[in-house]
Amino acid sequence: MPELPEIEQVRKTLKPHIVNKMVKHVDIRLPRMIKHPAPENFADILVGQSVRELKRRGKYLIIEFNTNLRLVIHLRMTGALVAADSDAAEPPYAKVRFDLTGDKTLWFCDIRTFGTMHLIVNDDISLPGLEKLGPEPGSSEFSAEYLEKIVKNRTGAIKGVLLNQEAVAGLGNIYVDEALAQAGILPQKPARSLSRKELKELVASVNKVIRQGIKNRGTTFRNYVDGNGTQGTNQHHLLVYGRKGQPCKKCGRELIGTKVAGRGTTYCANCQR
Ligand SMILES: [Zn+2]
Repeated sequence: MPELPEIEQVRKTLKPHIVNKMVKHVDIRLPRMIKHPAPENFADILVGQSVRELKRRGKYLIIEFNTNLRLVIHLRMTGALVAADSDAAEPPYAKVRFDLTGDKTLWFCDIRTFGTMHLIVNDDISLPGLEKLGPEPGSSEFSAEYLEKIVKNRTGAIKGVLLNQEAVAGLGNIYVDEALAQAGILPQKPARSLSRKELKELVASVNKVIRQGIKNRGTTFRNYVDGNGTQGTNQHHLLVYGRKGQPCKKCGRELIGTKVAGRGTTYCANCQR
């Protein structure tokens, strides 16, 4: 699943193709991906609207239009938003086609079809998943003091806390495993047992792995591509994720694969305590 760095890379690469462009036509091939309003009204509302801005919050992309209209997109497992010239060949797994002025087409492609789109008109619905998001990594709100309050009453694993979008926005399995490896903290360690020093280290490590992921244009394991259809390169720079059974890059010991918080997890039993 694309996480914060991948979504941010999609935002950056897509933005120049769509801002100040008007929607000319919308073709929906898989209506159930449109969660709001009814798919038959979706195109009617969007046609004639001009894109003002493309924003990101956590793993959500938000296309803002000139009127009080926001298209909120979540790519989930395998969704991709790709811009192309209007006369270019249709990309595989295309589910929704947006024809824009300037001879550009925005495609929503999705192999497993878990991606979602909500078109919010004058705040007619609230999206709890978006509104309850915790602070963004790298922001001043995401501090050791903040995390200390969050973990205080959590008996579960620290990995589970970091995966919770209400605790911190935008992290998923890749960057959580990487941040814990970077910080030298065991993923299964009870959240409330972390010291202030460890929490400080963890905040710095989350910020570092997210920064690195953005710098490397995201992590591509299977399907992820950015708004130009280009893969990321961060998969070549990972400490533990996807490296079960391989030697730890710090100490050389074999990395262990297990399950924590219901998710496949890789860590070094020597470097992470
Ligand atoms: Zn190690």
